[in-house]
Amino acid sequence: MPAVQLERVAKRYGAVEAVRDVSFSLPQGGRVALVGHNGAGKTTLMKLMLGLARPSAGRLLVLGRDPSEGAAETRRRIGWLPESVTFNGALTGREILRFFARLKGENAAAADAMLDRVGLAEAARRRVGTYSKGMRQRLGLAQALIGAPRALLLDEPTTGLDPEMRQGLYDILAGLSGAGTTVLLSSHALEELEGRVERVVILDRGRLVADGTLAELRALARLPVRLRLTL
Ligand code: ATP
Repeated sequence: MPAVQLERVAKRYGAVEAVRDVSFSLPQGGRVALVGHNGAGKTTLMKLMLGLARPSAGRLLVLGRDPSEGAAETRRRIGWLPESVTFNGALTGREILRFFARLKGENAAAADAMLDRVGLAEAARRRVGTYSKGMRQRLGLAQALIGAPRALLLDEPTTGLDPEMRQGLYDILAGLSGAGTTVLLSSHALEELEGRVERVVILDRGRLVADGTLAELRALARLPVRLRLTL
């Protein structure tokens, strides 16, 4: 059974068709990118998968369930890194992660182990207000990973990261998918995905325009010119 399955999914906000007739599936342990320009519908698709919005049409199954029925349970099984994650800068990394650990039914030791895993053990007792952008991003990742989710959704996780931090993030994601966690990330940048995801789903103004490996996408002539230029 695929980890995520979308069949002809649509989402309207009033007159805006944020997602139109989108179908694709993600295998368990797959590492896939959703690529598109601003407003293409990437965040909306992730919110549908998390049960934070309901589709206007179509069918959606995440880890075998309709995420809009029992959104709280879905959220426990899916880790989410939102596009702009903000934390209270007056708290330490450790305090923040221990809070999220409690929400997901994990203990303080699990939170501390997770900080170590994302390379924040030394900074754990520092206030998050003193963290760099990359460190805050890693704290966001730790928050998404606590509770051992079976699927992980990351909304533009590499925006604003330098190449070294980017590589660090992709290394963590490769390890996770290797261990069976399904990873879906969104990105504006096709060029940074080479060798880092197995498949790319391209959205343009709410529609799925292509779904394949980067090699397959390069061979496609029907990609919108704006996207083809960056391949
Ligand atoms: P970005 O790269 O800017 O994050 P995106 O691909 O994630 O873009 P979405 O945020 O999913 O795109 O937005 C898709 C379209 O739906 C946009 O036109 C957006 O303005 C619209 N939209 C999204 N959420 C809402 C909402 N709650 N109410 C009304 N319109 C919305």
